[in-house]
Amino acid sequence: MKGVKVIGFDADDTLWETETHFQAAGREFCALLAPWAPPEKAAEELFRTETANLGLYGYGAKSVMLSMVETALRLGGDGVTAAVLGRLLETGRRLLDYPIEPLPGVKKTLGELKPRYRLVLITKGDLLDQERKLERSGLKNYFHRAEILSEKREQDYLDLLAELGTEPRDFLMVGNSIRSDILPVLGIGGRGVHIPFRVTWRHEQAEPPAQDPDRFRELTDIRALPALLK
Ligand SMILES: [Mg+2]
Repeated sequence: MKGVKVIGFDADDTLWETETHFQAAGREFCALLAPWAPPEKAAEELFRTETANLGLYGYGAKSVMLSMVETALRLGGDGVTAAVLGRLLETGRRLLDYPIEPLPGVKKTLGELKPRYRLVLITKGDLLDQERKLERSGLKNYFHRAEILSEKREQDYLDLLAELGTEPRDFLMVGNSIRSDILPVLGIGGRGVHIPFRVTWRHEQAEPPAQDPDRFRELTDIRALPALLK
């Protein structure tokens, strides 16, 4: 994969672990809702609420908290007590404050790439939450800039690349989500490296495109990235 000048890195589940915390919160939600719905039903209803709210609330922990409360009231009605709502808010609040530890090999790889490429963090979600996670990760100084978007569609990438003064063919996006990090970037003529994380949120699941040595590769370990670009 030659000729790359700017590398975009997704953050959640690419640089640090996120989805496992959200899945744990989902299980706590199901346990709290047990008096009113079996766990599969509670999980399905929560996913339905989250998906319906995305356009208004966007991504992130605070949106999940609101969707949990909404789903609990829909399933439990007046039976949902202040104590249950309090526990749901606590569950969501913990999603805003867990320790952020870079995944294995992330620091070393960013350190190797930084002198040779412009590195840009490109994440979607809640502005304050994503900024705080970046601070807590200790990775901020590896990046030329950090972009927190509300969505990662083709136009969002085109707008960002125009701001950076970068042609799509000079841009590589690295991330764990085929849907958000890879497909839209390939769609505008950029390149993508997919590094799957062990769990993927249902909303982000998509079929990977065919491997293409010059434009799309899948890696199991971020540490293999510098060699791929040589
Ligand atoms: Mg991600």
